Amino acid sequence: MSHDSDTKPILPGATVGVLGSGQLGRMFAIAARRMGYRVHTLSPDDDTPTGQVADREVQANYDDLDAVRDFARHVDVVTFEFENVSAAATEAAAQFAPVRPAGSVLHTTQHRLREKTFLAQNGFPVTPNETVRSLAELEAALARLGTPAVLKTAGWGYDGKGQSKIERATDAAAAWTKLGTTEAILEAWVPFQSEVSVVAARGVDGSYADFGVVSNTHRNHILDLTVAPADVSDKVRRDAAEITRAILEKLNVVGVLCVEFFLTKDDTLLVNELAPRPHNSGHFSFDACVTSQFEQQLRAICGLPLGSTELLRPAAMSNLLGDLWADGEPNWAAACKIPEVKLHLYGKASARPGRKMGHLTAMASTPAEAARLALAAREALLRRD
Ligand code: AMP
Repeated sequence: MSHDSDTKPILPGATVGVLGSGQLGRMFAIAARRMGYRVHTLSPDDDTPTGQVADREVQANYDDLDAVRDFARHVDVVTFEFENVSAAATEAAAQFAPVRPAGSVLHTTQHRLREKTFLAQNGFPVTPNETVRSLAELEAALARLGTPAVLKTAGWGYDGKGQSKIERATDAAAAWTKLGTTEAILEAWVPFQSEVSVVAARGVDGSYADFGVVSNTHRNHILDLTVAPADVSDKVRRDAAEITRAILEKLNVVGVLCVEFFLTKDDTLLVNELAPRPHNSGHFSFDACVTSQFEQQLRAICGLPLGSTELLRPAAMSNLLGDLWADGEPNWAAACKIPEVKLHLYGKASARPGRKMGHLTAMASTPAEAARLALAAREALLRRD
């Protein structure tokens, strides 16, 4: 039995199940509990960022189908914040509760090759790319696409994991060995002017809302700073929204999905990646929008009307990685001295380098000033006074 076609709203008081237990689930749980829902979370860990806020934390592997079934039996709808859940697990959950977005959305977006194929076949603009299954195929693809190029694993990867830049054709063998896979994708290098993204939601009834175009800066392949709104032309804004809406419709998404784009030097948008859930580049919405991406996810999966995504003030978000803890606990009070800055910490016990521990959101009268404040507050964390 599938519950996917249920359109009756799931109202406050009901229980929402989240597969995954990181910061995305935590912020979702905060939004859901604020609106009177109960939240259960399932992941292999305990005392997790989501579990600390949820009503119930189930510790089980995602491939423990009995545990997933039991989890789904006790909730009214299942969503996720960790997208690398197997089709078997989403199918097991779907026997007992609607899974939103559906497992088919995860299946497409959790695999770069399937995702790129879906995008290209539906006419969405993507970076020139080729599938490679051997060193010989890699060398042939490099000859066609040229260098530099980026070799990425076909299977899941995030924050730059499972990818390597190839500067010269002679580096092909080393890159192939380093990736250690049998299936990969080679992408032409895009000398972009900027990276932008759109976080959007689609309701059970097909309604659509997005949070506008924001600009993202990465450091070591990890998002470092998001500025909202992005400084782009009206045409780019319109094109980005149109592409995003069409992607959500084609995938039949019920929930939230983020589209990450490269904006090329001639103002063309290329889709880089899809994430079928709230996204780091939408965290600013928690403080700066009428409805956050997390509340929007809740509304969408529960069949409620979507909320307004209006940006209340220009905003910027800077990520706090574990590296900030290298010389001891960051100076929280110093960052809080800037009154327009909001501190978010995810409750993670160990601060490993590169691990997302929290973020700061700054609001100001201009996006540039918000960015300056978000960065200044992060600098202040290292002050020893
Ligand atoms: P990904 O994991 O594919 O989103 O890549 C992480 C980051 O690596 C992107 O946000 C870009 O900053 C960079 N990157 C990935 N692919 C390319 C490309 N084809 N051209 C230029 N930069 C890229």
